[in-house]
Amino acid sequence: MNANLYSLFESHFPEEREQPFALLPGGGAVPYEDLAAASARIAHALVAAGCRPGDRVAAQTDKHWQALALYLASLRAGLVYLPLNTGYQKGELSYFFGDAEPRVIVCRPGAEDAIAALAPSAAVLTSSAEGGSLQDAAGGHDAAFETVARAPDDLAAILYTSGTTGRSKGAMLTHRNLASNALTLVEEWGFTRGDVLLHALPIYHVHGLFVATHCVLLSGSRMLWLPKFDAAEVARLLPHATAMMGVPTFYTRLLTEPSFTRESCRNVRLFVSGSAPLLAETFAEFRERTGHTLLERYGMTETGMNTSNPLDGARLGGTVGPPLPGVSIRIVAEDGAPCPPGGVGAIEVKGPNVFPGYWRLPEKTREEFTADGYFRTGDMGCWTPERYVQIVGRAKDLIITGGLNVYPKEIEERIDAIPGVVESAVIGVPDADFGEAAVAVVVGKPGHALTEAAVIAALKAEIASFKVPKRVHFVADLPRNAMGKVQKNLLRAEHGGG
Ligand code: AMP
Repeated sequence: MNANLYSLFESHFPEEREQPFALLPGGGAVPYEDLAAASARIAHALVAAGCRPGDRVAAQTDKHWQALALYLASLRAGLVYLPLNTGYQKGELSYFFGDAEPRVIVCRPGAEDAIAALAPSAAVLTSSAEGGSLQDAAGGHDAAFETVARAPDDLAAILYTSGTTGRSKGAMLTHRNLASNALTLVEEWGFTRGDVLLHALPIYHVHGLFVATHCVLLSGSRMLWLPKFDAAEVARLLPHATAMMGVPTFYTRLLTEPSFTRESCRNVRLFVSGSAPLLAETFAEFRERTGHTLLERYGMTETGMNTSNPLDGARLGGTVGPPLPGVSIRIVAEDGAPCPPGGVGAIEVKGPNVFPGYWRLPEKTREEFTADGYFRTGDMGCWTPERYVQIVGRAKDLIITGGLNVYPKEIEERIDAIPGVVESAVIGVPDADFGEAAVAVVVGKPGHALTEAAVIAALKAEIASFKVPKRVHFVADLPRNAMGKVQKNLLRAEHGGG
């Protein structure tokens, strides 16, 4: 049987293909038949550009519906889709291109020369809402394409993530991983044809690309397709939606938006939150303001979704719910023994949703799995008496800001390379808007002329701005413990308030 994820989606598209899958904020609608035809044409164009099954296709594009068609085209042609955060700069991109060796890279118009210089052996095409060389090339092709047969364990996508340590690694995701998780979520969250999902998430991350769009495509429903999150715009459009998915920052921002009221949520049946911890006060304030109980779930790039509070039944604030059907979770103490309820330990996951490993890193992959096949998430948690999972922290040195991950080590290495810097430490501090914000503490050489603005400007030229520390503090030296390890807890206590 063909396990290609696109074939699964297609089998759930509405029979009337003129039904929309995307409603655009300006009032237009894009029917399923256009999505199917565009993905077929783009699949032909990718093949014509030299792609063969198993080749990688990287995409750094804005969020427009043809970008989604590109993802589907990549599946249809048996290729491996590699979405890239739109904020990534040359420092990050050259690493991804060198590691993944994409056959084709699709970028925004105007960026093609810079991209071609970073990846000389790839074909570079452009795409935007208004068009581009990808759409031009696709336009000459047929609106039918025979979806390439794939086995369940064939790769569908690679998403770069830093996992539990600093270096970016490509998490390989198979057709089985994505299909099993999507089928589970549609069932658990009750998606049906009549749903309208408000989609304001980016489509280069697991949340917006997989969790949100898969629920829509597998239920033949539709989405309000917003290019980005804007609280006033979301409040304006919510009356047309039955469901919304967001990172906690979306919900804290909505709560500061005066036009977001009980009335604006009148048709919504489900609000889902994830990708970062939801504060208990946001959970409570949201309920107070709207009468809705946010449904919090927990997942990661490597595993898709692992746990979810229930659609029907108690949604407990401060927890991420029980394991999803088919997903096995255990929480283990340092000696490997299972923790009783209330006992904090490392969260490990196994199931059809769990990725097979990191791209071209068999050693690293082996380290991250236990002998009996559980993936070590790097998250710390405990069981509640109801057997819900509560996340209490991270063993990994990770900052989550606005739902996006920042690995201190990557930023520290870049700061340390700036002339005049001796060493640095990057910490996460509480931030009312982003949940956490990165702050750098820097030791300069004697007599250095470094300034906060100069450090920030140097970083912005190299890396995506969401990773750039919001503040830079200069100190004479970093506090260290007896083992010589920087005591980030002391830095957080000292610089956390600013
Ligand atoms: P990513 O791979 O970017 O999706 O990030 C995954 C990480 O985000 C997880 O390992 C957790 O540390 C964190 N995360 C995701 N969802 C939640 C949640 N509901 N509560 C707390 N942390 C979360």
